[in-house]
Amino acid sequence: MEKTSEKKTVLVTGASSGIGQGIAIGFGQLGARVIVNYHSDKEGAQYTLNKITASGGEGFIHQADVSSEDEVQAMYAKAVDAYGPLDVLINNAGIQKDSSFSNMSLDEWNAVIKTNLTGQFLCAREAIRLFEQKPDVGDNDKSKGNIIFISSVHDVIPWAGHVNYASSKGGISMLMKSLALEVAQKKIRVNCISPGAIATDINDDVWKDKEKMAELLKLIPYKRIGQPEDIAKAAIWLASDESDYVTGTTIYVDGGMTLYPGFLENG
Ligand code: NAD
Repeated sequence: MEKTSEKKTVLVTGASSGIGQGIAIGFGQLGARVIVNYHSDKEGAQYTLNKITASGGEGFIHQADVSSEDEVQAMYAKAVDAYGPLDVLINNAGIQKDSSFSNMSLDEWNAVIKTNLTGQFLCAREAIRLFEQKPDVGDNDKSKGNIIFISSVHDVIPWAGHVNYASSKGGISMLMKSLALEVAQKKIRVNCISPGAIATDINDDVWKDKEKMAELLKLIPYKRIGQPEDIAKAAIWLASDESDYVTGTTIYVDGGMTLYPGFLENG
């Protein structure tokens, strides 16, 4: 997204930490108006907003559970009140609740599906409703709305001990593609970014532990863990008119994790 006087309005879910925080700050640095959604970490959300305003952007923080229809609708109402129709949704909020399959409780299954899949559905639906209210644009004009789902390499890489998480991310992939097909003729773009291992709170038990980190690096041909900024840069491009012909696709930002690294030495 170019830094322009015509500021884009961007809603980032789960923006109080990690990837969502990195993306929100990245857009803020380009002068965007950013709605910083958070669930429970108000301090983290305020830090994100401070970074945004310090670098020339603007916005506000808003508490909402993405899996609650009422709370999501109230968040969009506030966003429209403040800035009018949205331009970009970064559908990022997500959780893990790991367990072996036979020990996985229904609560662990439901919690992950509810946040990661239903939450992304609810936020995308409200965004689409707003985009559809915008005036029609011509076939050769740029898109009038843009949704980016933050999925995971586990939308294609099976993950033992994380069946609920991998199922939610696989679901996001088909949600994204079917929605992209449904709204493309309305000049609305819908894509996924699927990160590999990015150093955030969700996996700090791994990257803070030397031995676990060494094991993880065996799965990353590019030999470094990713940072939220790696995902932010991809999101900024995908939300910009530079990628106007891109819809219904997934960009893997993963240091080559999806390249079957086990086959590096002849398998
Ligand atoms: P994180 O734990 O730092 O961020 C997750 C964010 O989602 C937090 O801010 C959390 O408060 C928020 N959240 C959780 N439940 C919520 C709810 N019900 N409503 C609103 N917000 C809620 O972890 P992260 O790594 O930054 O994760 C962000 C996204 O990236 C997730 O969807 C995750 O699955 C995905 N992802 C992360 C990695 C990685 O290696 N870190 C890899 C692939 C995909």
